[in-house]
Amino acid sequence: MPDRIVGGRIVPDRRKLLTMSPLQEAADTVLEALYPGIWRRAENDIDQLPRLFYDGVWRDHHDEIIADIHAFADLHPVDDQRTEQAIKAWSDQSAGELRGEYSQSYYRTAVHVGLLAYVKQMRELRQKMHSEEGWHRIVERFHDACSGQPGYGFLGAHEKWGGLRLAYRCDTSANDACRAAERVAVERAAVTCEMCGAPGELRWTTWRKTLCDVHAGNRYDD
Ligand SMILES: [Zn+2]
Repeated sequence: MPDRIVGGRIVPDRRKLLTMSPLQEAADTVLEALYPGIWRRAENDIDQLPRLFYDGVWRDHHDEIIADIHAFADLHPVDDQRTEQAIKAWSDQSAGELRGEYSQSYYRTAVHVGLLAYVKQMRELRQKMHSEEGWHRIVERFHDACSGQPGYGFLGAHEKWGGLRLAYRCDTSANDACRAAERVAVERAAVTCEMCGAPGELRWTTWRKTLCDVHAGNRYDD
Protein backbone atom coordinates (compact mmCIF):
# COMPACT_ATOMS: atom_id res chain seq x y z
CA MET A 1 0.00 0.00 0.00
CA PRO A 2 1.48 3.39 -0.95
CA ASP A 3 2.00 6.18 1.55
CA ARG A 4 -0.88 8.60 1.75
CA ILE A 5 -0.51 12.31 1.14
CA VAL A 6 -2.36 14.44 3.67
CA GLY A 7 -2.26 18.25 3.38
CA GLY A 8 0.76 18.06 1.12
CA ARG A 9 2.68 15.88 3.57
CA ILE A 10 3.45 12.26 3.07
CA VAL A 11 1.97 10.19 5.85
CA PRO A 12 3.21 6.64 6.15
CA ASP A 13 0.43 4.10 5.95
CA ARG A 14 -0.09 2.39 9.27
CA ARG A 15 -0.58 -0.95 7.61
CA LYS A 16 2.93 -1.07 6.27
CA LEU A 17 4.10 -4.46 5.09
CA LEU A 18 6.50 -6.16 7.44
CA THR A 19 9.18 -8.00 5.51
CA MET A 20 12.28 -9.60 6.92
CA SER A 21 15.69 -10.27 5.50
CA PRO A 22 16.76 -13.91 5.23
CA LEU A 23 18.03 -15.29 8.52
CA GLN A 24 21.62 -15.80 7.41
CA GLU A 25 21.78 -12.15 6.42
CA ALA A 26 20.18 -10.98 9.68
CA ALA A 27 22.60 -13.18 11.61
CA ASP A 28 25.57 -11.39 10.08
CA THR A 29 24.85 -8.26 12.12
CA VAL A 30 24.82 -10.34 15.31
CA LEU A 31 28.01 -12.07 14.22
CA GLU A 32 29.75 -8.72 13.83
CA ALA A 33 28.81 -7.72 17.38
CA LEU A 34 29.50 -11.02 19.15
CA TYR A 35 32.20 -12.70 17.08
CA PRO A 36 34.14 -9.89 15.36
CA GLY A 37 37.08 -12.24 14.82
CA ILE A 38 34.96 -14.51 12.63
CA TRP A 39 32.99 -11.72 11.00
CA ARG A 40 36.02 -9.75 9.79
CA ARG A 41 37.04 -10.26 6.20
CA ALA A 42 40.72 -9.40 6.40
CA GLU A 43 43.13 -8.92 3.53
CA ASN A 44 45.44 -11.45 5.08
CA ASP A 45 44.60 -15.04 4.10
CA ILE A 46 45.27 -16.44 7.56
CA ASP A 47 42.89 -13.99 9.21
CA GLN A 48 40.22 -14.77 6.67
CA LEU A 49 40.04 -18.47 7.49
CA PRO A 50 37.47 -18.23 10.31
CA ARG A 51 35.15 -16.31 7.99
CA LEU A 52 35.58 -18.94 5.26
CA PHE A 53 34.77 -21.75 7.70
CA TYR A 54 31.73 -19.86 9.01
CA ASP A 55 30.39 -19.22 5.50
CA GLY A 56 31.14 -22.84 4.61
CA VAL A 57 29.07 -24.18 7.48
CA TRP A 58 26.07 -22.11 6.33
CA ARG A 59 26.59 -23.36 2.77
CA ASP A 60 26.87 -27.03 3.76
CA HIS A 61 24.32 -27.09 6.59
CA HIS A 62 21.89 -24.27 5.81
CA ASP A 63 18.71 -26.34 6.13
CA GLU A 64 19.86 -28.02 9.36
CA ILE A 65 20.75 -24.69 10.94
CA ILE A 66 17.34 -23.26 10.06
CA ALA A 67 15.63 -26.46 11.29
CA ASP A 68 17.52 -26.24 14.62
CA ILE A 69 16.46 -22.61 15.02
CA HIS A 70 12.81 -23.39 14.30
CA ALA A 71 12.88 -26.39 16.63
CA PHE A 72 14.11 -24.13 19.44
CA ALA A 73 11.22 -21.73 18.79
CA ASP A 74 8.71 -24.62 18.80
CA LEU A 75 9.97 -25.73 22.21
CA HIS A 76 10.22 -22.16 23.53
CA PRO A 77 7.06 -20.64 22.06
CA VAL A 78 6.87 -17.52 24.21
CA ASP A 79 9.36 -14.71 24.62
CA ASP A 80 9.98 -15.27 28.33
CA GLN A 81 11.44 -18.69 27.50
CA ARG A 82 13.81 -17.37 24.84
CA THR A 83 16.57 -16.30 27.20
CA GLU A 84 20.22 -15.78 26.32
CA GLN A 85 21.02 -18.81 28.42
CA ALA A 86 18.47 -21.07 26.70
CA ILE A 87 19.74 -19.92 23.30
CA LYS A 88 23.35 -20.63 24.22
CA ALA A 89 22.49 -24.07 25.57
CA TRP A 90 20.54 -24.88 22.41
CA SER A 91 23.40 -23.93 20.11
CA ASP A 92 25.81 -26.09 22.15
CA GLN A 93 23.43 -29.03 21.93
CA SER A 94 22.81 -28.56 18.20
CA ALA A 95 26.52 -28.54 17.45
CA GLY A 96 27.02 -31.61 19.63
CA GLU A 97 25.20 -33.65 17.01
CA LEU A 98 27.93 -32.90 14.46
CA ARG A 99 30.46 -34.72 16.62
CA GLY A 100 33.91 -35.03 15.17
CA GLU A 101 33.39 -32.64 12.30
CA TYR A 102 35.84 -29.79 11.86
CA SER A 103 32.92 -27.44 11.43
CA GLN A 104 31.34 -28.17 14.82
CA SER A 105 32.33 -24.91 16.49
CA TYR A 106 31.29 -22.87 13.46
CA TYR A 107 27.96 -24.66 13.41
CA ARG A 108 27.49 -23.72 17.05
CA THR A 109 28.26 -20.10 16.21
CA ALA A 110 25.85 -20.12 13.25
CA VAL A 111 22.98 -21.48 15.37
CA HIS A 112 23.83 -19.04 18.17
CA VAL A 113 23.81 -15.87 16.04
CA GLY A 114 20.97 -17.20 13.87
CA LEU A 115 18.78 -17.80 16.92
CA LEU A 116 19.49 -14.37 18.35
CA ALA A 117 18.55 -12.82 15.00
CA TYR A 118 15.42 -14.99 14.73
CA VAL A 119 14.19 -14.15 18.23
CA LYS A 120 14.69 -10.45 17.46
CA GLN A 121 12.74 -10.76 14.20
CA MET A 122 9.89 -12.59 15.92
CA ARG A 123 9.71 -9.89 18.60
CA GLU A 124 9.21 -7.42 15.78
CA LEU A 125 6.47 -9.63 14.31
CA ARG A 126 4.69 -9.70 17.66
CA GLN A 127 4.13 -5.97 17.53
CA LYS A 128 1.61 -6.76 14.82
CA MET A 129 0.00 -9.70 16.61
CA HIS A 130 -3.17 -8.92 18.49
CA SER A 131 -3.98 -12.17 20.19
CA GLU A 132 -2.98 -13.84 23.44
CA GLU A 133 0.40 -15.57 23.49
CA GLY A 134 -0.99 -19.09 23.02
CA TRP A 135 -1.29 -18.38 19.30
CA HIS A 136 1.97 -16.54 18.82
CA ARG A 137 3.96 -19.54 17.64
CA ILE A 138 1.22 -20.44 15.13
CA VAL A 139 1.54 -16.99 13.57
CA GLU A 140 5.34 -17.22 13.56
CA ARG A 141 5.16 -20.49 11.68
CA PHE A 142 2.80 -18.98 9.14
CA HIS A 143 5.24 -16.13 8.66
CA ASP A 144 8.21 -18.50 8.28
CA ALA A 145 6.31 -20.52 5.69
CA CYS A 146 5.50 -17.42 3.60
CA SER A 147 8.78 -15.52 3.97
CA GLY A 148 10.63 -15.67 0.69
CA GLN A 149 7.41 -16.02 -1.34
CA PRO A 150 7.22 -13.35 -4.07
CA GLY A 151 5.79 -10.08 -2.76
CA TYR A 152 5.01 -11.49 0.68
CA GLY A 153 4.64 -9.06 3.56
CA PHE A 154 2.94 -9.45 6.92
CA LEU A 155 0.28 -6.97 7.96
CA GLY A 156 -1.11 -8.39 11.16
CA ALA A 157 -2.85 -11.15 13.09
CA HIS A 158 -5.81 -10.89 15.41
CA GLU A 159 -8.55 -12.88 17.06
CA LYS A 160 -12.15 -12.57 15.90
CA TRP A 161 -15.15 -14.62 17.03
CA GLY A 162 -12.76 -17.06 18.64
CA GLY A 163 -10.80 -17.66 15.42
CA LEU A 164 -7.44 -16.50 14.06
CA ARG A 165 -7.44 -13.89 11.29
CA LEU A 166 -4.29 -13.18 9.29
CA ALA A 167 -3.59 -10.14 7.15
CA TYR A 168 -0.80 -10.20 4.60
CA ARG A 169 -0.05 -9.44 1.01
CA CYS A 170 1.72 -11.42 -1.71
CA ASP A 171 2.05 -11.61 -5.48
CA THR A 172 -0.47 -13.65 -7.43
CA SER A 173 2.17 -16.32 -8.05
CA ALA A 174 2.48 -16.85 -4.28
CA ASN A 175 -1.26 -16.98 -3.59
CA ASP A 176 -1.55 -20.76 -3.41
CA ALA A 177 1.43 -21.21 -1.13
CA CYS A 178 0.37 -18.42 1.25
CA ARG A 179 -3.27 -19.51 1.32
CA ALA A 180 -2.17 -23.05 2.18
CA ALA A 181 -0.01 -21.74 5.04
CA GLU A 182 -2.90 -19.55 6.21
CA ARG A 183 -5.25 -22.55 6.22
CA VAL A 184 -2.81 -24.54 8.35
CA ALA A 185 -2.50 -21.67 10.84
CA VAL A 186 -6.24 -21.05 11.12
CA GLU A 187 -6.98 -24.76 11.55
CA ARG A 188 -4.29 -25.12 14.19
CA ALA A 189 -5.56 -22.07 16.10
CA ALA A 190 -9.07 -23.55 16.10
CA VAL A 191 -7.81 -26.40 18.31
CA THR A 192 -5.30 -24.40 20.38
CA CYS A 193 -5.98 -22.41 23.54
CA GLU A 194 -5.38 -18.75 22.74
CA MET A 195 -4.15 -18.12 26.30
CA CYS A 196 -1.56 -20.88 26.72
CA GLY A 197 -1.14 -22.94 23.54
CA ALA A 198 -2.50 -26.17 25.05
CA PRO A 199 -5.15 -28.14 23.14
CA GLY A 200 -8.38 -26.19 23.17
CA GLU A 201 -11.75 -25.81 21.52
CA LEU A 202 -14.20 -23.05 20.69
CA ARG A 203 -16.25 -22.01 23.72
CA TRP A 204 -19.56 -20.29 23.27
CA THR A 205 -20.88 -17.78 25.75
CA THR A 206 -21.68 -14.12 25.38
CA TRP A 207 -18.25 -14.04 23.71
CA ARG A 208 -16.47 -16.70 21.78
CA LYS A 209 -12.93 -17.84 22.51
CA THR A 210 -10.83 -20.87 21.74
CA LEU A 211 -9.61 -22.12 25.10
CA CYS A 212 -8.34 -25.17 26.96
CA ASP A 213 -10.33 -26.59 29.90
CA VAL A 214 -8.23 -24.72 32.45
CA HIS A 215 -8.65 -21.33 30.84
CA ALA A 216 -12.29 -21.91 30.04
CA GLY A 217 -12.82 -22.54 33.76
CA ASN A 218 -15.77 -24.34 35.29
CA ARG A 219 -18.29 -22.03 33.67
CA TYR A 220 -18.58 -24.34 30.67
CA ASP A 221 -18.68 -27.69 32.43
CA ASP A 222 -22.18 -29.06 32.79
ZN1 LIG B 1 -5.11 -22.56 28.16
